[in-house]
Amino acid sequence: MTTATIPIQTGLPKEYMGLSASEWQARIAQAKATLGQDLLILGHHYQRDEVIQFADLTGDSFKLARLAAQNTTAKYIVFCGVHFMAETADILTGPEQVVVLPDLNAGCSMADMANPDQVDECWETVTDVFGGTTVPITYVNSAAVLKAFCGRHGGAVCTSSNARKILTWALAQGERVLFFPDEHLGRNTALDMGMTDKELVVYNQQTGQFEWLPGQTPQHVKVILWKGFCSVHQRFNVAQVEALRKQYPEIQVLVHPECNHDVVAAADMFGSTEYIIAQVEAAKPGTVWAIGTEVNLVHRLAKQHPEQTILSLNPIVCPCTTMSRISPEHLTWALESLCRGEVVNQIQVPSEVAEFAKLALDKMLTIA
Ligand code: SF4
Repeated sequence: MTTATIPIQTGLPKEYMGLSASEWQARIAQAKATLGQDLLILGHHYQRDEVIQFADLTGDSFKLARLAAQNTTAKYIVFCGVHFMAETADILTGPEQVVVLPDLNAGCSMADMANPDQVDECWETVTDVFGGTTVPITYVNSAAVLKAFCGRHGGAVCTSSNARKILTWALAQGERVLFFPDEHLGRNTALDMGMTDKELVVYNQQTGQFEWLPGQTPQHVKVILWKGFCSVHQRFNVAQVEALRKQYPEIQVLVHPECNHDVVAAADMFGSTEYIIAQVEAAKPGTVWAIGTEVNLVHRLAKQHPEQTILSLNPIVCPCTTMSRISPEHLTWALESLCRGEVVNQIQVPSEVAEFAKLALDKMLTIA
């Protein structure tokens, strides 16, 4: 498998550094007006307010993938999100559509926890140890080359919105699933589907070893979990749940499935970013929430719903640093460059990778 190299962002041109808020507000609005229907700005919910205000459409990874696939008219799709999302948009849009990521350093630490060489090594080990048919499933938070791996081997992509459906489908295709790169989404989904701990085994990509439970054998295993995690969702713990329950006995704890299973088990509800938003939107005035997900979204929900009390499960949590790389200055630069007819930071997945990655993405879009 070939490893795609992610280019590193060079510095912004001097004229874009230190723009005041009123300057970038006016210049982004002007650039949007100039580009008109040729431009579509997609914004992930974890983006900061200064950036997401300019998005034409917002969503979580699944919704944005669908929106990108549906849009056939915009010449330029500017993705305010992270690298793997822009790659997905490039794969799902037409060859004449250009996808731009305003800062190339907007990556994802979880996606970086699985690389093609590690996945190849794991696949060989899984074949040796288990035999039979294993179906590879990658969380959308992964490089395009790993989505292509799944496409080549009869697997699919999933997001946190549809992991249950995709796992159910995959287990009907083979004897077990190799799920990467997020251990926690895989574990939380599998346990929610009624599997037991004994049916799950962790594969440690650093050591190339399985982490067997006492008495567990390959015959027990239905899902092999890659030992990856989200550095943002790892910051939530059960002590925070207990402390907030003491302070607010009526509190509803709502967390994302990238959290550890003990946090999910201690919560009242768990689900994707879109699920979290839907729960808050449907709640009665006076509802008190502790939400365990990226803090930009939690603060935005609190502002949008002053009739409810919305707290971050971790009061001192930081935003996702890679999502935060997309700044209004970078957005101004990307848009004004397009106005001048110059494409900067285009995300282009090589065709031999895109072909198979699209198979795995299309599988997800069909099943989900
Ligand atoms: S919140 Fe976690 S999974 Fe999402 S982009 Fe940031 S590091 Fe990656």
